[in-house]
Amino acid sequence: MNFHNASFKAAYGTSAQLPASTQPEVSFAGRSNVGKSSLLNKLMYRKGLAKVSSTPGKTATVNFYDVDGQALVDLPGYGYAKVSKSELGRWSDLIEGYFNQDRQFALVVSLIDIRHEPSALDRHMVQFLQDAELPFAIALTKADKMSKQQAMKQLSMIRKALNTPKEVPYVVTSAEKGTGIEELRRLIADALGA
Ligand code: GDP
Repeated sequence: MNFHNASFKAAYGTSAQLPASTQPEVSFAGRSNVGKSSLLNKLMYRKGLAKVSSTPGKTATVNFYDVDGQALVDLPGYGYAKVSKSELGRWSDLIEGYFNQDRQFALVVSLIDIRHEPSALDRHMVQFLQDAELPFAIALTKADKMSKQQAMKQLSMIRKALNTPKEVPYVVTSAEKGTGIEELRRLIADALGA
C-alpha cells in the first residue's frame, strides 16, 4: 500500500449523506486538537490534505481519503467545549450514524494525547469500540513533547487506564518528528490486507 498515492475524496456533514460502504475502511477518532489532522497528513506524506487548525472545534464533517485505492476515514473530533448545542447534535449524529451503519470496519485508530490521562470521552470511545467488538488500535500522539523514558511511562499509565485487551496495539507517535508513523502505516495496511 503506497501512502504517497493519497487524495481527498469527499466530506459529509450528516450521516444520511454518507455513501454506502463498498470496501473495507480504516477510520480515525479522537478528541478535537489531539493531532488527528497532523497525523493523517504525515501518514499520507501531504502537508495540507487534512486541515490542521490552531483553533479547535472546526466544522464537524466525516472526511474520506483514498490511499492507493484504499479508504481512510477522518471522523470529526470530539469534546470541544465551546460548540453550540446544535453543532454537538450534528457531531453525535455523524459519529453514531457512521458506526451504526453497515460498514466494513477494518480498523479504528483511536487517538489519545500521550501527555494526559485519557479523558472521560476518550474512555467512552474506547469502551464503545470494545463493546461493539470493532478492531481498533490506540495511537498516542505528540510524543515529541516529552523524553522517550517519559513516553514509556505514559504509555503504561494510559494502557492501564483504558484497560484494553492484550491484543490491542498501541503506537507511540509524533507527527512532528515522524515517530511511529511507519509502524502505523503497517498496521493500517495489514488491517486492509493491502
Ligand atoms: P486535530 O484537531 O486533532 O485535527 O489536531 P491538529 O492536527 O489540527 O493539531 C492540533 C494542534 O496540535 C496543532 O497546533 C498542531 O500543530 C499540534 N500538533 C499536532 N501533532 C503534533 C505533534 O506530533 N507534536 C506536536 N508538538 N504538536 C502537534
